[in-house]
Amino acid sequence: MINFYVMTLFPEMVENGLNVSILKRAKEAGRLGFEAINIRDYTLDKHMKVDDYPYSGGAGMLMNPDPIVRCHNAVMDKIPEERKGKVRTIYLSPAGRMFNQDMARDFAKSEDLIFICGHYEGIDQRAIDMVVTDEVSIGDYVLTGGELAAMVMIDSISRMVSGVLHNDDSAETETFSGNLLEYPQYTHPEIYEGRRVPPVLLSGNHKLIDEWKRTQSLVRTRERRPDLFEKVELSKQDKKLLKKYDEETGV
Ligand code: SAM
Repeated sequence: MINFYVMTLFPEMVENGLNVSILKRAKEAGRLGFEAINIRDYTLDKHMKVDDYPYSGGAGMLMNPDPIVRCHNAVMDKIPEERKGKVRTIYLSPAGRMFNQDMARDFAKSEDLIFICGHYEGIDQRAIDMVVTDEVSIGDYVLTGGELAAMVMIDSISRMVSGVLHNDDSAETETFSGNLLEYPQYTHPEIYEGRRVPPVLLSGNHKLIDEWKRTQSLVRTRERRPDLFEKVELSKQDKKLLKKYDEETGV
């Protein structure tokens, strides 16, 4: 069981985004909990303001530290005393460490994760210094807010939680396990618009099927993600499969 708390100015966006399909079912089955908390509810400003101009100028507005810290305190109050020390608080930020599958696996070991979604030009550094344990980016591009980034992280972390996927195997064999991309997959019909499913997949020969899948994963990774391929520990059999593929295709 893992509890996700998302601190945001747009709780309905997060709730609507997460309450569907696999995550909704996992929530109903008690495998996950998620709650969106409105940071604006914690401002003491009489006009409910949560942002202000940055000192020394610069473009746009910055979120004030006080509503964030007060909101964070309120979330911490929901968490049982014995778990408080292990809580991780993630600030979604393009300046953070780049999110990946290993991080998803690591975060999935937690019982309570708090996400802080920035908006406008981001949040006052003092709030980050006071409550954040991890600053995470989902990619080298800038979003208008942290909500989509939090949802991306929650979605991929959830898939690592036991019992969330029907078949726990699918998290183990898919893309990024062992630094490899997944092989191509096919379902019915056998011929679609003149395009056939690779015959080996219909052969019933499991050894050949496994070899085909492994070769496809290796070749795809080598072509599309040389950075990942460098990290793959190639077995003798992998080298043999690649050599055979290269000979057959004249690479
Ligand atoms: N001024 C900030 C900068 O240059 O680093 C960008 C702020 S961005 C417009 C507003 C908010 O969107 C950020 O506070 C962050 O929460 C979120 N955000 C934007 N891009 C992101 C990314 N690549 N990964 C995670 N969060 C992101």
